[in-house]
Amino acid sequence: MTTSVSAYRGTVLHFLADPGESDDPHAVQLFEDGLLVIEQGRVKAAGPAQQLLSSLPKGAELMDYSDCVLMPGFIDTHIHYPQVDVIASYGSQLLDWLERYAYPAEQRFADASHAREAADFFLTELLRNGTTTALVFASVHALSVEMFFEQAAARNLRMIAGKVLMDRNCPEGLRDTAEGGQRESAELIEKWHGRGRLGYAITPRFAGTSTELQLELAGQLARDHPGTHIHSHMSENTDEIAWIRQLYPWSRSYLDVYERFGLLRERAVYAHCIHLDDEERGRFAQSGAAASACPTSNLFLGSGLFDFDASLAAGMRVGMGTDVGGGTSYSMLRTLSEAYKVAQLKRQRLSPWRAFYLATLGGARALRLDGEIGNFAPGKEADFVVLRLASTPMLERRMRAASTFAEKLFALMMLGDDRAVAATYILGAPGYRRQGA
Ligand SMILES: [Zn+2]
Repeated sequence: MTTSVSAYRGTVLHFLADPGESDDPHAVQLFEDGLLVIEQGRVKAAGPAQQLLSSLPKGAELMDYSDCVLMPGFIDTHIHYPQVDVIASYGSQLLDWLERYAYPAEQRFADASHAREAADFFLTELLRNGTTTALVFASVHALSVEMFFEQAAARNLRMIAGKVLMDRNCPEGLRDTAEGGQRESAELIEKWHGRGRLGYAITPRFAGTSTELQLELAGQLARDHPGTHIHSHMSENTDEIAWIRQLYPWSRSYLDVYERFGLLRERAVYAHCIHLDDEERGRFAQSGAAASACPTSNLFLGSGLFDFDASLAAGMRVGMGTDVGGGTSYSMLRTLSEAYKVAQLKRQRLSPWRAFYLATLGGARALRLDGEIGNFAPGKEADFVVLRLASTPMLERRMRAASTFAEKLFALMMLGDDRAVAATYILGAPGYRRQGA
């Protein structure tokens, strides 16, 4: 953590609200020659450089990031760290993909040294892509959570993770029991939840791999620990939905299953939520839960197209997720680019303003962490990313041809990737710096 004031000059962009389709000017704060001022790891001010430079105390460190955009760190609301080795695995859709690729990879997380090495790689990769907070699936092994939290704590990161609960329809080596899973989760909550910047998520994989008893005990755990998150999947793939209907013949819908067991509440985050109808969206929004939209995964696994307009219009909280390894990139820029194309296929329009809102403040709201992170309001934790606009020859040329900042921002969103990330800061301290940047 820094002990004095430091300031960063460049284009400063953050959000105070959802800019929506109308590009509400009050939702966006853009300072093209801006200054971000940090004190003791927290935001002190963000505004026009000309105005703020004179107020800097003597001896304040000043970093020049002209030609870069400074934004709050990206928030990945759904990702699996034990799937680092199966990203880009060929030829299947969800249920088969889990059996063929994800489950075998996750079995290796019974081994501490493998889990530690994977967590180290995973967190390095997030920082390299400008992601500073994530909601993370570990594996069924309590040890995988221990290794992940140790690595996250060593980097001072705000991270949320949990042990997968899975007591049926999965390989022997990945199966827990309803009671055992509840006990291990409770122990992990006791040890890690609220320790430094870490939070725990009660993590039933999805309704297909838990018995009713396991979901019931997970719901009990969620009631006993209301400050924890709940993290699972919902309504991703049509074969999966048909299977859930068979497994829970009493349910009216997929959402019904989680609701019945008390798993639909504030701080519950469900990945995908693609095939919901309007009635379910309304109930989802009412519950205060959040959806994680995962476009690269949904396209890669052929799952379907997330309905941004209907979900947001229904009042659902929505964040962006990469869903690595079903997703194909750790990069939030690549993810937003695919989100734009998904919206196009639905005849909807995702503006760059709304897209970057979803990747920052929208994600923080989805996780209910917007009191701590998500924008540059004074007092917020100073996790931020420095994005170079002209990071490749293609982007350099495109930027020269752009006449407005909105045009540049959209080009960055559509064409940028990890090469655009010049630096990532954690609590005002450098967590990653691109070589030569
Ligand atoms: Zn997932």
